[in-house]
Amino acid sequence: MIPYGRQDITQEDRDAVLAVLDSDFLTQGPALPAFEAAVREVTGAAHAFAVNSATSALHIAYLALDLGPGDVLWTSPNTFLATSNAALFCGASVDFVDIDPDTLNLSVEALAKKLAETRAAGGRLPKIVVPVHFGGEPCDMAAIAALAREYGFAVVEDASHAIGASYGNHRVGACAHSDMTVFSFHPVKIVTTGEGGAVTTNRADLADRLGLLRSHGMTRDERLMRGRSAGGWYYEQVTLGFNYRMTDIQAALGTSQMKRLDDYIAGRETRALLYDEAFAGTDIGTQRRSADARSALHLYVLRWPKDAALSRREAYDRMRAADIGVNLHYIPVYLQPYYADLGFRPGLCPAAEAYHDQAITIPLHPRLTRNDQDYVIETVRKLAKSNS
Ligand SMILES: *Cc1c(COP(=O)(O)O)cnc(C)c1O
Repeated sequence: MIPYGRQDITQEDRDAVLAVLDSDFLTQGPALPAFEAAVREVTGAAHAFAVNSATSALHIAYLALDLGPGDVLWTSPNTFLATSNAALFCGASVDFVDIDPDTLNLSVEALAKKLAETRAAGGRLPKIVVPVHFGGEPCDMAAIAALAREYGFAVVEDASHAIGASYGNHRVGACAHSDMTVFSFHPVKIVTTGEGGAVTTNRADLADRLGLLRSHGMTRDERLMRGRSAGGWYYEQVTLGFNYRMTDIQAALGTSQMKRLDDYIAGRETRALLYDEAFAGTDIGTQRRSADARSALHLYVLRWPKDAALSRREAYDRMRAADIGVNLHYIPVYLQPYYADLGFRPGLCPAAEAYHDQAITIPLHPRLTRNDQDYVIETVRKLAKSNS
């Protein structure tokens, strides 16, 4: 099976991991701050905190902004469950803003409309809005930031797909138009630590809270203590936190991987351009990428033509049968049974639902060979034209 995404592990990566295994610290040693320095360097943010997953990163990012019961967080339905679930962990409610049918990112027009309608009706405005850079394509952050100023919400970017992406003069993760940005280092993402995530921010107050929340709410930093240090052994718990720490084994893998970030994205770009060319002039739709942004190209998604002889489901099954590891990103989060239990109903975000009915993710990763890619293209084009 040609996978839709796959990690790339080199001898350098193995050596970096083995060096940690032979060192004094498997966790809370020097590899973690080195990885965080790499994340700061790649993003340009003032602060970076690595944690054990992007799910944990989202959780502490929301908590750092005091999201809790009585609050509501808005996000895109075209995302992985964790973006929304992490708000539920905080006891907050969630709601969804429909997507743009071309970029497949949260629609700024839909956001502006929903904000205006909510305010006019005297409803609860969101405390946090979470744009998701779907497939690595940056959202229109300047427009979202303008709405954030007007309506007084915080912005957390879910950049799980988008490390290495940029728009205009801004790198994703620099938080030029947001309070915090979250990354995932799951093996199908751009760079991996096995499991892992990170939060970046430029705000010193949020940085202090993220550091506490990731490790039991405890500190050895006198600046954050209520009292005074009683000696070298002394620590204080000043809030309720978690053990969301990343190990040094993971961090060393991440630092080694991060050195190849540019190559990874360039490798994805070459392959995406080949797909663009292959599907231009056919009825097969693709995600629109902005000319003044650089997508990290985590995913290459197709919109299967509605009037094709083969249904999306048949096409999907045929591709699987042909050993092509197709996938679907995403089922709108609120269509999940758990969210139906919370009161969500189909019809909430028509553009996201229409896209979901046509979506197929085809293989895209830096190790995808030209032969395999040609085979994917040929199979997709044949199926789109097929009558049976
Ligand atoms: C992968 C992903 C997450 C969760 O990441 P983990 O590191 O697996 O917790 C969250 N949001 C989006 C958009 C993702 O793709």
